[in-house]
Order: sequence, then structure tokens, then C-alpha cells
Amino acid sequence: MFGKLKAVGWNTLIRMNNSGSKELVKEVDIWDVTYPIVEHFYTIQGEGAHAGKASYFIRTAGCDVGCWWCDVKESWEEEGHPVMKVSELVEAVKQSKAPFVVITGGEPLLHDLYPLTTALHTLGVKIHIETSGSWPLTGELDWITLSPKRFKKPTDDIFEFVDELKVVVLTKKDLAWAEENAAKCPKGTVLLLQPEWDTPKSIPLIVDYVKKNPHWGISLQTHKYLQVP
Ligand code: SF4
Repeated sequence: MFGKLKAVGWNTLIRMNNSGSKELVKEVDIWDVTYPIVEHFYTIQGEGAHAGKASYFIRTAGCDVGCWWCDVKESWEEEGHPVMKVSELVEAVKQSKAPFVVITGGEPLLHDLYPLTTALHTLGVKIHIETSGSWPLTGELDWITLSPKRFKKPTDDIFEFVDELKVVVLTKKDLAWAEENAAKCPKGTVLLLQPEWDTPKSIPLIVDYVKKNPHWGISLQTHKYLQVP
């Protein structure tokens, strides 16, 4: 159980307090809960351990991490993006027949993901998240990809739940940052280094590193080669 809020049934959010007991927070219809959405689309997952698989992407708006090389800067501000109900997002995923959903951003953990993920699970789909881990983990999640950023570090609480660690590499300093984070992840975590798209000099750096440290693998942004979103 992660995070602070959990949807119970279809209309109740409870808060897990520090002693582990439940506290009624509010009655809501989770299908009416809304999120600011930059875009949502059925595509091919381009990166990481599930690259090449069909998946439905939901990109929430809002990010306070501030990576200067970010390729989705339009997602940083919440304002200016449409607000969508959980019911609308679930219907879009249902129509696509996608086998799994990737919730990304922006930084998706700026939002309480319990309503959205609880509702999506009624479709029988798996739910993946891609996060910097800099906000508390919420939601019913089947695969957690942590992509830690030095600009705003992950909270310590996320590490025990990580399935995949994917570190964007520009310089040697990022390799040390990758190892620092890998040391906190569970045994068996998929460890991946990903060259920053506009920094080609990172590629020989990563290739050399992975040859010497083969418990790491390489993630490429294959959707950019495939020219899919
Ligand atoms: S955490 Fe992700 S969305 Fe936020 S600035 Fe960094 S790369 Fe961009």
C-alpha cells in the first residue's frame, strides 16, 4: 500500500495514517475525479524494459523538477491543459484495447493516482508509471519505472517498490548518480542507462560502461526512430 489516499469501492477515499489505520477523508465518485492532461494516445512504448509493446499513454500536466534537457517542457505547467474525468480516460483506454497503460508526465505523482488507477484496473489492464519519484507514491501500480533526477531527488520511500531504474545519461556524473540510486533499489530491479537524445557523446560512455558493468542495460528512445509519439 503506498501513498496517502486510497479509493475504496467506487465513492470513498480514505487516508492511511501513520499507524496504518484508515481514516475517512471524503465521499467522492472516483469516476468524476479529474486530472490535467497534456495528451493521451495509443502507441508503442519506446523506452525501457517494455520497449516495443503496444501501450496507452496518459501524460499528466505539471512538473516541478526542471530538467533543462526535458523534451516535454509543455507539460510543466498544469494550467492551459484540458481537464479530463477518470471516466473519460478509462473509456479511451477501453476503446483502444491496449494491454497496458503508461502514466507519465510531467511528473504524474504530483497527482493522487488512486482514483485513476483504481478505475483503470476495472478494465483488466496493467498500469505502469514513469516517475522521477520526487513526490509520494500513490495509486495501484503494476510496474514502477523510476527515472531519478539530480535536480529534485526521489523520496526514500519509493525505492522498495521500484521495478525498473532508468537513468538518463549526459556525462560521467550521471553514471555515479545511477549507481547511487541502484544501491537503494531491490535486488532484481531492471537497471537501464539511457542516452540523452541530444547528447550523442553519451552513447560511447554508456556502451563502455555497460560492457564493464553488464548488470546494467541500455534503453533507447526507439519511438523517435519509429516516429511514433
Ligand atoms: S522530470 Fe521528466 S517531465 Fe519533469 S522536467 Fe524532468 S524530464 Fe521533464
